Amino acid sequence: MAATIIDGKARALRLRAEVARGVEALRAETGRAPGLAVVLVGEDPASAVYVRSKGKATREAGMNSVERRLPAETDTATLLALVAALNADPAIDGILVQLPLPAHVDAAAVLLAIDPDKDVDGFHPVNAGRLATGMPGFVPCTPLGCVMLLRDVHAHLAGLDAVVVGRSNIVGKPMAQLLLAESCTVTVAHSRTRDLFARVREADIVVAAVGIPGMIRGDWIKPGATVIDVGINRTDSGLVGDVDFASAAAVAGAITPVPGGVGPMTIACLLSNTLDSARRRAPVGLIA
Ligand code: NDP
Repeated sequence: MAATIIDGKARALRLRAEVARGVEALRAETGRAPGLAVVLVGEDPASAVYVRSKGKATREAGMNSVERRLPAETDTATLLALVAALNADPAIDGILVQLPLPAHVDAAAVLLAIDPDKDVDGFHPVNAGRLATGMPGFVPCTPLGCVMLLRDVHAHLAGLDAVVVGRSNIVGKPMAQLLLAESCTVTVAHSRTRDLFARVREADIVVAAVGIPGMIRGDWIKPGATVIDVGINRTDSGLVGDVDFASAAAVAGAITPVPGGVGPMTIACLLSNTLDSARRRAPVGLIA
């Protein structure tokens, strides 16, 4: 039986429309729209594309997009001063520093300098700690999008066995925390995991966030499992995920395609986080 293809593009469009309605309501109540600042240092072409599409999506949702482009030679102190100014600016609800930063910049210091309550990327250790301890905060956009897609497929996630392949701070670890919060039984696998095949094969939910094209094949997948492919790999045959889509789709119950699966959810969740930030920041009593 062929798997259901999870349409992340359509889901993301619905979320973006929902955010746009929320922005309109906030503007009506408070007289101002949320503001998202994106900082880009240098000329990395892929980063420039991401920043452009984030700006476009922000404006389409009715929010203010503020882009700060700095030359590649910008030093850490200049960047820290910019972050401090954005932290202090009441018109800015979200701050995002596009990664990777040039090698000479102290990226950790820059990320630490962002006000955790404006950290809509959810990368600040305070937000990682909030997620780990079940406190409200900002959740990294890609895993947040994945859990939304999973909730659409599974009315009840509690008790399901989940394997997250990858343990990065921006995808694998927060994904594992979110699944744990949904009461899944979570295994986090990585490059040193022994017998990865057997672990993936036992899972009801597989989240692949590795960065190796087509690594997880259909014969690894438990029949009927849900497969979320976070991977975005540019190959000679185009954009592919970490899962071998054709063989996995023949076995899985539901699967995300690449492109058109997790990717579109990431920007939609960024907009959603920015709206949440603006709502939290609104004067007490104005927002129900
Ligand atoms: P990282 O390179 O930071 O992490 C990759 C992880 O995969 C590491 O934990 C690594 O293990 C693990 N890994 C590497 N090789 C193997 C292996 N052979 N077996 C098992 N585990 C392995 O990548 P990211 O988390 O940043 O991204 C992962 C993928 O997701 C990439 O393709 C990226 O492009 C994509 N991505 C997509 C997004 C979207 O919007 N859809 C957003 C962000 C990322 P170890 O820790 O031991 O080294």
